[in-house]
This record gives sequence, structure tokens and C-alpha cells, in this order.
Amino acid sequence: MAFCVPVQCPDCHGTNVIKHGKSSNGKQRYRCCNRDCFRVTFSLNLDYPGRDAKTKQKIVEMKLNGNTVREISRVLNISTTTVVKELKKIVKNKM
Ligand SMILES: [Zn+2]
Repeated sequence: MAFCVPVQCPDCHGTNVIKHGKSSNGKQRYRCCNRDCFRVTFSLNLDYPGRDAKTKQKIVEMKLNGNTVREISRVLNISTTTVVKELKKIVKNKM
């Protein structure tokens, strides 16, 4: 399996997507290359995926399933630092 940036068009879910400069607030913009898709450009809200509640939930689930920090960071596409930080927060909250 190729290891590339998992960017998908939010409309056609195609991965035939290219970088298209940055928006005024510094977010990466992308352009869908699918000719049948009406969407031209879009940006992703993935600046801080580690802060997303679903990501936190996944971190906990994966940790409980015996995955290592490195595996979690790779699967969820977040840094190991973020994983460790979130796990520490979770441990603190439970004690
Ligand atoms: Zn598209």
C-alpha cells in the first residue's frame, strides 16, 4: 500500500486531489481533479486532528487494544507527542 497523504475530496471522495495553495487564514487548500465532481477547491480542518473528540476516543480504544503509541500515531495520522499528551490527560482525568 502506498504511503501518501490521505486527502479525499469531501464530495466525490476521490483521492485524485492536488494542493492548491493556501487560504487567507493559512489553511492548505486542495483541488479535486475529478472532472465529474462539481467541487473545485476545498480545505481540510485537519490542523489539529489530535484535538478532535473522535480522535481522542480512538486513542483510548487503540491503547486498550494493546497498540503502542507509535502504532496509534501512524494509524490516526497524528504525532506521537500528541498521542502521549492525550493519554496523559486521560489518565489524569480517571484518577
Ligand atoms: Zn471531488
